[in-house]
Order: sequence, then structure tokens, then C-alpha cells
Amino acid sequence: MARRTIVLDAGHRQSLKNTGASGHGNTEAWVMWDFCRRVKRGMRVVAPRWTVHLTRPTKELIIPLQNRISLCRAVKADILVSCHMDAGPASARGPSAFYGDMCGSARLAGCIYNRLMQLRWYKPYGRGVHHHTKVGKGSVYILRAAPCPSALIELGFITNKWDWWSMVKSIWRRIRINRKVRAGIRDFFRNR
Ligand SMILES: [Zn+2]
Repeated sequence: MARRTIVLDAGHRQSLKNTGASGHGNTEAWVMWDFCRRVKRGMRVVAPRWTVHLTRPTKELIIPLQNRISLCRAVKADILVSCHMDAGPASARGPSAFYGDMCGSARLAGCIYNRLMQLRWYKPYGRGVHHHTKVGKGSVYILRAAPCPSALIELGFITNKWDWWSMVKSIWRRIRINRKVRAGIRDFFRNR
């Protein structure tokens, strides 16, 4: 297995007030920080020669978006994956994926999204893979500025009780989601 360098970005906390979406007593910033460090830990087991860098190594740190991009440059990242959760009406649910401008980004987003779609609680609610200009308010800085293939994954809606339950409450489901994200990243490198 070749060496790979992956930058995992837990969305938000680029300022003190920026905690992202919130729902059911949890903030997106915290849920994603916790998720990303678990993905990193899991990656160490399945792909020990790969290096995973977290843009937000501790939950308290405030990291401007520019610093996340400079981290990608500094470590010569092969890919950047940013993890988020959506907010919306209580009935809105399901994951979606967005891709950046660098060549390979769409395939990266697709690889992770397709793996998530294998999960029975996500499958009927998939919201598709889109270019970053389709994200709510215009485009996403991190996907525009990334010096490597980049994807932003919305792991369901924190405002939906089932999506929230899958990411926060159910350890069993969260482990499976974690595995699918890792499998998607490995698919990307495998099928080049
Ligand atoms: Zn977000």
C-alpha cells in the first residue's frame, strides 16, 4: 500500500461563535470533531502507512479556514475531506456530498457517497453528489481553495432525529458510518 496523506476537516469552529448547525442538544462542530478523530483512529488500523491529519485536533481550538488550506499544502495532502451535518426542517434527512474544483474531487465525493448509500438508514434519503456551488449560500471556500482533490460530506441532518441518532446516539451505527467513510477514501485511491 502506497503512502497517502489525508487531511480530515471537522467542519466549523473557524471562529468562537461558529459552531455550525445544532439540534437535539448537540452542535455540528462538536459532533464532527468527535467523528473525525474516530475516523483517524480507525484509519490507523486499516491503513497504517497512511497519514491522517486533523484540521481541528482538539475541540476547543479555533482554526481559520485559510489555516486548513495551508495545512494541506504543508503536509502535501493527497486529499481533503471535510465532514459536516446539515440543518433543516425536522423531516429533512439524508447525506449529501459536494466536490471541489481540483481534478479528482468529483470522484472522491462519489466514492464516499456511494459507500454511505450502502447503509440502509441512509439509502432511501440520499441527496446526491453536487459541485460546491450547489451548497446553500454560494460556494464553499475550502473546496474552492483546496490544493488537492477535495470533498465535503454532509452526514445527514443534525436537526432530524434519526440522522442525529445515527451519528450521536447509536454507537453501532456510528461505527458503520465511520467504516463507510474510510472505505470510500480507500476506493478513491484503489480505483485511480
Ligand atoms: Zn457545516
